Amino acid sequence: MPERPDLDYAIPRLDEALRGATIASAELHKPPVLRLAVPGSLHDALAGATITAVSRRLHFVCFALQIEPAIDLIIAPMLAGTLAVHPKGQGTRRDRAFTVHLQDGRELRYRDNVQMGKVYVIPKGKVELIPGFQKVGIDVLDDKAFTLEAFTELARKRRDQVKVFLLDKGALDSLGNAYADEVLFAAGIHPKTFVRKLDDEELERLHRAIFEVLRTATAEIASRGPATDEKIRDFLKVRNRHKQPCSVCGTPIRKAGVRGFDAFFCPHCQPETRKSGIVRW
Ligand SMILES: [Zn+2]
Repeated sequence: MPERPDLDYAIPRLDEALRGATIASAELHKPPVLRLAVPGSLHDALAGATITAVSRRLHFVCFALQIEPAIDLIIAPMLAGTLAVHPKGQGTRRDRAFTVHLQDGRELRYRDNVQMGKVYVIPKGKVELIPGFQKVGIDVLDDKAFTLEAFTELARKRRDQVKVFLLDKGALDSLGNAYADEVLFAAGIHPKTFVRKLDDEELERLHRAIFEVLRTATAEIASRGPATDEKIRDFLKVRNRHKQPCSVCGTPIRKAGVRGFDAFFCPHCQPETRKSGIVRW
């Protein structure tokens, strides 16, 4: 959490709730999450700022602020961060890492139980201070940009394993660990397959799976209508289902490491193609 379907659901709701609100004060509960790149304290930087928009860039949540000197507030929720707006004193305060108190009495709470996320406060536009922010890949939910031709061209340049390729946000906007596993399951491709070993038919399946899995997940989350800090993942077919039967064939789901990332897959529906790749040489 959160990945693109979660953010595409939560961010418009946060934008609607926060647009026009003015920050009274900011409170840091978990210092490891803060990356403050402006002079003075966090409170000095944010107090008095009006939130003019909340938007997504890759897996970052960007708050446009009106204040002098001009700054940006950008949150990378990473593995476990969540955002929600609550009336003062209401809603859970568990795992709070950062709270923005609004002049109207509400609170924007950033919660993060593993403190892997980051809250960046930077001089406006100095986004080079944020790792992974600048290069944005093809929007995989834009069917005009994310064509099979564009995807194939991108894939043909890759020398890495397919799971690593899918996670590269400078190439594709965007997939995280969970949806990359779901996409590979939908496409019937083993996560360790090298991209250069994928034939045209497999690339076509992968292209279609990326679009379909993300679109379906986005629609499912919208239809369930959760709170912005609620994670809905119960409809996923392989992610975090180690040893459970595959929904298609019943084979126990396996878990493997791919270049430092974990991957869940069905060994029957996603046969390891590297061996057959060697035969093709
Ligand atoms: Zn299976």
